[in-house]
Amino acid sequence: MKKIGNLNVEDIRNDFPILKQKINGKDLVYFDNAATTQKPNVVIDTISQYYNSYNANIHRGIHTLAEKATAEYELTRNSVKNLLNAPTLEQIIFTRGVTESINLVARSYGGANLKPNDEVIISTLEHHSNIVPWQLICAEKGAILKIIPINDAGEIIFEEYEKLLNHRTKIVSIVHVSNALGTINPVAEIIQKAHQFGAVVMVDGAQSVSHLDVDVQALDVDFFAFSGHKLYAPTGIGILYGKKHLLEAMPPYQGGGEMIQEVTFEKTTYNELPYKFEAGTPNIADTIALRKGIEYVTAIGKQNIALYEDQLLQYCTSKLSDFQDITLVGTAKHKISVCSFSLAGVHPQDIGMILDSEGIAIRTGHHCTQPLMQRLGLVGTARASFSFYNTLDEIDKMCVAMKKVIKMTK
Ligand code: PLP
Repeated sequence: MKKIGNLNVEDIRNDFPILKQKINGKDLVYFDNAATTQKPNVVIDTISQYYNSYNANIHRGIHTLAEKATAEYELTRNSVKNLLNAPTLEQIIFTRGVTESINLVARSYGGANLKPNDEVIISTLEHHSNIVPWQLICAEKGAILKIIPINDAGEIIFEEYEKLLNHRTKIVSIVHVSNALGTINPVAEIIQKAHQFGAVVMVDGAQSVSHLDVDVQALDVDFFAFSGHKLYAPTGIGILYGKKHLLEAMPPYQGGGEMIQEVTFEKTTYNELPYKFEAGTPNIADTIALRKGIEYVTAIGKQNIALYEDQLLQYCTSKLSDFQDITLVGTAKHKISVCSFSLAGVHPQDIGMILDSEGIAIRTGHHCTQPLMQRLGLVGTARASFSFYNTLDEIDKMCVAMKKVIKMTK
C-alpha cells in the first residue's frame, strides 16, 4: 500500500468489515462516500448491543433499561454539541437527516416568517433537498426563490450573491460543500453578508462535517444540518442545530407524543427545546450509534482526515487529467474529496457499470443536483468520492479500469 500522511490506513480499514469483501471477483473499491460512508465495527456493534441488552423506549420510563437507553441517547446530544461547538444541548435537535432538518426549518421558520414577495436565496450548487422544501414554502407563502449563479469551475459568484441581497431577503440556505463537485462554499462570508440584511442563514452540512471542522458559534450560523450516515454512523438519524431564540420562537413541526407539555381537547402546550421538535418515538439505536461514529472520526482527527483526503483528491485529479477524453467537472480552488468527471461520448451510467464489474463503486448521474447539471450542460457525471479509508492504490485501480472503459466504449 502506497503510504501518505500519518494515518494508519491499514488499521483503519480493518475497522470496516464491509471493505474486506470481493465484488464481481475483485477487491471492493468503495468510492461512493459522498452518498453514504461505510460503518466501523464500533458503530455496528453499538446497534446490536442496544437491541441485545437495553432496548427500551426513552424519556418516560423509570425502569433500568429505559433509564440506560435514555442516558445513552442523550449522550449523543452532548457529543453533537461538542462536535459543532454549539452553546447548549437544547439547540441540538434529532431528525432523520439533512432532508428532514431543512424541511423542518422551511416549514416551521419559513412558514411563520415568510410573507408575500419576501425572498429566499439558495445557490445553483444545491442538492434537491435544499431546493424543493424552499420551493414548497415559497409557493405557499407567495415568496420568491432567488438563485446564486456559479462560474464554470463550480464556484458561486460572490458579487452576484451580494447583488441578490436586499431588505426583502429573509432566508439564505446554502450548501457548505457540494456533493456533486466538492466545492467548499465561503459560508462564513455568506452568513456575514446575509446578517447585514437581517436574513437568517441555514447551512447544509451534509458533505462538510465528515471532512472539515465546523464551529457553529464561530460561523454565527442560524441553522446547520447534517446526516449521521455520511459521518460513519447509521442512516435515519440527523441533526438540526439552531440559534436558541429562533428555535424558541418557531412553531412545532410535527405534533404527537414527547413534543407536548400538556394536552387537553381544548388546548395543547408544547414541550421545551429540543423536545418541542422531536415528536414520537425516535430512532434510538441509531442515535446512540451516531455518538460512536463521531467518536471514531474525532479520534482520527479532522485535520489528519483533511490532509489525507486532500492528497487522495490531488492524486486522482492529476491521474484523471492524464486521460485525453476525460473532463474533470468541478475545478474550484477550494474543494474536498469529490472527483466528478465525464468521458467524451460515453454516458456516465456506462462508466459506472463497467467500473462495477471491476469491483469499483462510484456514483453516476445527476447526484440529486439536476439544476446544477443543467447549468453545466451535462446529463450527469461519474463521481468518485473519498474517505480516509481509501488509498492511492485504489485510485490506480480505477484509472486502470477507466482504460478498459475507454477501450470498450470507443
Ligand atoms: N445535501 C447534500 C449536499 C447531500 O449530499 C445530501 C445527500 O446526499 C443531502 C443534502 C440529503 O441528505 P439526506 O439524504 O441524508 O437527508
